[in-house]
Amino acid sequence: MEWIDIGCNLSHESFDRDCPEVVARAVENDVVQLVLTGASIGGSERALELAQQNPARLRATAGIHPHLAEQADEPALSRLAALHAEPLVVAAGECGLDYFRDLSPRSDQCHAFEAQLELAQTAGLPVFLHQRDAHEDFRAILARYRDRLGAVVVHCFTDTRKALFDYLDLDCHIGITGWVCDERRGLELKALVAEIPDNRLMLETDAPYLKPRNLRPKVRTHRNEPCWLPWIGGTVAATRGVAPAVLARQTSANARAFFDLPIPEADATSAIPPGSTRES
Ligand SMILES: [Zn+2]
Repeated sequence: MEWIDIGCNLSHESFDRDCPEVVARAVENDVVQLVLTGASIGGSERALELAQQNPARLRATAGIHPHLAEQADEPALSRLAALHAEPLVVAAGECGLDYFRDLSPRSDQCHAFEAQLELAQTAGLPVFLHQRDAHEDFRAILARYRDRLGAVVVHCFTDTRKALFDYLDLDCHIGITGWVCDERRGLELKALVAEIPDNRLMLETDAPYLKPRNLRPKVRTHRNEPCWLPWIGGTVAATRGVAPAVLARQTSANARAFFDLPIPEADATSAIPPGSTRES
């Protein structure tokens, strides 16, 4: 079986000390490729650096998370445009709107979101989107740009049935995380996961966040890791009434087509050269 994690934050400081081992563990567990989420300028640069160290397994996105929307000034946006031209950067984002935490003013969030959709259009890149508690504004902005964009994924989808079908109507892919494994708050999502068309579903861990709550055997750490993507896949497969192997094949084909990922060579190394440290 081969799984692809379309969203993990290996540039997060919690992976600084053992990133090569984390990637190796993922590959041992059949997670054959990982797309590293860039959620700030520094984080996107770090994600690209990691991808350059292990191009057989890793790719990066480059964007500014809505929490950091105030940082999306002209110099930052031109730096993003430069990152989007890098061969191993396979999507613009993560970008979008987050009214759950409201860590940035909403007007700044909308500005940063639109500016990054413009960049995605210019670069001709797929778009990796984040939306939490902001569906109406998010849908309205995305709808205005949709015809000018290529493939779009709404990552870590956790919203309502209406939101799901609004995104499918806008021809979006849907990223599902270990949120679906949460017996308290994942029930509504579980019911919706069966309704996502085969060719629109992709899987992600969003590591180090959202460790699957039903993970067995239990592990002590709070940090989520890409090696647990197959566990999420197992939960999603059961919900959809398909074998895990069928789901793995379908979601990996979707991810390869979406991000234009090469098929890794059989002997591709899982290791990142040691000694690389985070810069900021
Ligand atoms: Zn996100």
